[in-house]
Amino acid sequence: MSVNPDFDLAVIGSGFGGLVAGALAAKAGAKVVLFERHTRPGGCAGDFALGGFWFPAGATVVTGLEPGGILRQVFDALDVRIDSEPLDPSLVFHLPDRTVHYVADHEAWAREFGRSFPGAPAGYGRFWRWVRLVGGEVYRIGAALPSFPLERPADVRRSVRAVRPSLVLAIPWLSTTVGTVKRLVGACGAADADALIDALLLDATGATAGECSAIQGAIALDLYRRGCQRVEGGTGALAMRLVRAVRRYGGDVRFAAGVQRLFPGDAWWTLALDSGERVSARAVIANVPPAGLDLLLGRPPRIPKPGQAWGAFVLHLGIDGEGLPALHPFHQVVANQDDLERPGANALVSIYPGRGARANRWSISVSTHVQPAAFAVPPSESCRIRAGLEQRLLAAARRVIPDIDRRVLLLRSATPHTYQRFAGRPGGYVGGLRQVPSVVALRAPTRRVAPRLWLAGDHTFPGQGTVGTALSGVNAARDALEFLGKEPPL
Ligand SMILES: Cc1cc2nc3c(=O)[nH]c(=O)nc-3n(C[C@H](O)[C@H](O)[C@H](O)COP(=O)(O)OP(=O)(O)OC[C@H]3O[C@@H](n4cnc5c(N)ncnc54)[C@H](O)[C@@H]3O)c2cc1C
Repeated sequence: MSVNPDFDLAVIGSGFGGLVAGALAAKAGAKVVLFERHTRPGGCAGDFALGGFWFPAGATVVTGLEPGGILRQVFDALDVRIDSEPLDPSLVFHLPDRTVHYVADHEAWAREFGRSFPGAPAGYGRFWRWVRLVGGEVYRIGAALPSFPLERPADVRRSVRAVRPSLVLAIPWLSTTVGTVKRLVGACGAADADALIDALLLDATGATAGECSAIQGAIALDLYRRGCQRVEGGTGALAMRLVRAVRRYGGDVRFAAGVQRLFPGDAWWTLALDSGERVSARAVIANVPPAGLDLLLGRPPRIPKPGQAWGAFVLHLGIDGEGLPALHPFHQVVANQDDLERPGANALVSIYPGRGARANRWSISVSTHVQPAAFAVPPSESCRIRAGLEQRLLAAARRVIPDIDRRVLLLRSATPHTYQRFAGRPGGYVGGLRQVPSVVALRAPTRRVAPRLWLAGDHTFPGQGTVGTALSGVNAARDALEFLGKEPPL
């Protein structure tokens, strides 16, 4: 038995949270190792190649790269240059009978909304002004990289930068829902406009207006217009840049290297790898869902209860793009505005044209929310559900590319089982907890699980999405570096 552990910090999982934590810690001078069970980085925000096509594994919409955005701050702190191009409109909405462009400028959006929903009461105008005001304030708080929940003096110290007189704009909405705000300002009575708002909220927070936290809802609705960006290679390329950053600062990133168990010791943790190898580290950041952490610690996994989180179903299409016009990369297609949470009723169509010699080989991803429990059925039933969903998502893609059926060269779909297997998401739950008032900001689940062991990822503050997980990684790295006696870069 050696006297010193092998590493200062071991990070488990190369999702955005783990990569950000590992890269920041390596830059701060810690001796870092990052273990990833898969052969590629990024987890739900990674990518893969199949049949001559490239596909995003899950995440497609990139936010947080605008100047001052959370991801931009992370890459700047790591001295990594990322070229990105702002998208305006950030999304194109396809409601059953019309198309709406979600444009960035507030006045232009007010005009577009009025043109698209001419019968909507004036309260909707007040609602969008509320989004601008409160969403803007919550964005400012997020950009100050706060550390919630406030459990230790360090959290208060790190969060104090976010305190300004304008904070009073956000405080009254901490425990309420978007639905309550809409009622208060009179944004009610236009079912089609509600469908647009709900579709956006569902995608960004996992909850529609009636249940979505007002604070999270405001930032979600505001963020799309503030900072959707086009990045060559999508989130997978960003993950790869983070891997290189860890290595550039002296860290070790190991792929096909799953961690099976974590054993506590008096002064360090021992990690038992799938391969049988054992490694020791003074501190550990586990970038896995809580159920993944339970498995590492040898206890029964806390799988989310129905209603706490979602699974995803994704249709991956490789198509012949010959003769297609330039298309906006992101299209939200609402097929059934009366029951948005029904699988396939609300789908995001993401479009990646081919490049160079493969210019005609386009990749299309169409994703929708599902309940993982629906797939816990005999294989024949699961096949039936899969075939039905593939048809619904193909219909969504047809709204954007009407002759897509004759162009399809490759068709595959991902179910909650796929995410369990390839992204290490127990039960197939992805995207973090639904952002209802009881789980956000000050009430967020803790990341401090045991001495010298922290949790990161989309189940900890601030939850959901690549930007949220990046901030979870910043906070886990700050805690670990404080323990290691090193200065965090952020
Ligand atoms: C279909 C879909 C669409 C989405 N769309 C968007 C979007 O457009 N924009 C957006 O911002 N977000 C989107 N998201 C959400 C976003 O992808 C996730 O919230 C985020 O990427 C999760 O990051 P994470 O850090 O929690 O890690 P995860 O992505 O969960 O990655 C965890 C990693 O840890 C590895 N791992 C797990 N256990 C072990 C172990 N024991 N040993 C070693 N490695 C292990 C896994 O293999 C995996 O690579 C989407 C998600 C899905 C599924």
